[in-house]
Amino acid sequence: MTIQEQVSLKNYNTFGIEAKAHYFIEITSEVELIELCQSGFLANKNLLILGGGSNILFTKDFEGIVIKNSIKGISFKKSGQLIRVTSGAGTNWHELVLKSLEYGANGLENLSLIPGTVGASPVQNIGAYGVELKDVFESLKAIKIATGEVATFTKDQCLFDYRSSVFKNDLKGQFIITEVTLNLHNSKETNISYGALKSALNEKKIDNPTSKEISNTVIDIRQSKLPDPSKIGNAGSFYKNPVIDKSDFTILQQKYNGIPGFHQPANKVKIPAAWLIEQTGWKGKKIGNVGVNPTQPLVLVNYGKGTGKEIKDLSIAIQKSVFSKFNITLEAEVNIY
Ligand code: FAD
Ligand code: NAP
Repeated sequence: MTIQEQVSLKNYNTFGIEAKAHYFIEITSEVELIELCQSGFLANKNLLILGGGSNILFTKDFEGIVIKNSIKGISFKKSGQLIRVTSGAGTNWHELVLKSLEYGANGLENLSLIPGTVGASPVQNIGAYGVELKDVFESLKAIKIATGEVATFTKDQCLFDYRSSVFKNDLKGQFIITEVTLNLHNSKETNISYGALKSALNEKKIDNPTSKEISNTVIDIRQSKLPDPSKIGNAGSFYKNPVIDKSDFTILQQKYNGIPGFHQPANKVKIPAAWLIEQTGWKGKKIGNVGVNPTQPLVLVNYGKGTGKEIKDLSIAIQKSVFSKFNITLEAEVNIY
């Protein structure tokens, strides 16, 4: 384990923003991480646990310690139709999806091509095309930063919610996830309930898709709609889709004919933030070095030389426009530092 100083984070965040970490430590094993936590070096310093940096916006240098989680390894265990996969937190998420499909372990296909690491996947309960991590989650292992103790979290203990978990709330910054175990299966059961996925499969004339066909279709849709972070800096959806009371949604429906909404439990309705942003005229707008993606306005982009502050200012301007038109507060999904 090497402690580096004044390390550029430009290649460690998918926005491609230049910012420096005062200290930078890459961890490749649980033992190394426990040693670090028990060394006393982390005490009273700002910490940032970094995976693939695909859900992070740096607005300034990080005056603390960045711990890059690079604990790798994937193993499968079969028991009847159940296939349990355990992965190191530093494994690339999409690599896990592809390796699982290759093994014949289904269940992750809808979550294909999400950037980032396995360790970050429970933090915001990643989700796409009608499936969330919690649907396949079994447990995770994490190290308590203050003591170096190893802890196990079950699904219930993670308190998964829409793009959220206990690690974004009560336990924020207290644990480093080192290993995740998921329950996959080798049956033909799939989930193609999500409208855009169903239409794309229909277009391909596939009625009963295999998990591999679903994965390929999700990849096709994503590549046609989302900017590739290796070419245009971005962190995916900048905001969460707001969930509002059904009664407020009914009022908005009277004013804005055709406003989309997806009914949720407890008399709530989820409104696509992309629609709200488009209605306020931001779609495709460019301000200096940054802008709003023209095909999916929920994605803010860095056209190359943008700064974190420019992105943040743009995100605030969009929030203000949406609030003044719809009285809805857009909450950032991206972690801003
Ligand atoms: P980072 O950005 O490195 O970290 C994110 C947060 O998790 C930080 O707070 C960090 O401290 C914490 N963290 C990271 N690793 C650990 C760990 N081991 N232990 C404890 N805390 C940790 N998200 C979706 O949900 N669905 C999508 O469909 C989706 N599509 C995307 C498409 C694009 C093009 C992009 C750029 C992003 C997309 N995202 C999506 C967002 C992002 O990919 C996910 O949030 C992903 O899980 C982040 O992983 P990461 O390793 O890059 O995390
Ligand atoms: P889309 O298909 O254009 O749909 C727009 C929004 O409507 C989505 O955000 C989705 O909410 C919601 N939606 C659509 N059909 C739904 C249904 N049947 N039930 C409930 N909600 C529904 O979205 P998109 O931007 O192309 O993204 C496709 C999927 O990939 C979505 O699930 C999205 O979350 C995910 N994605 C996430 C990120 C990220 O960074 N977080 C980036 C790109 C894509 P949900 O978001 O809740 O699914």
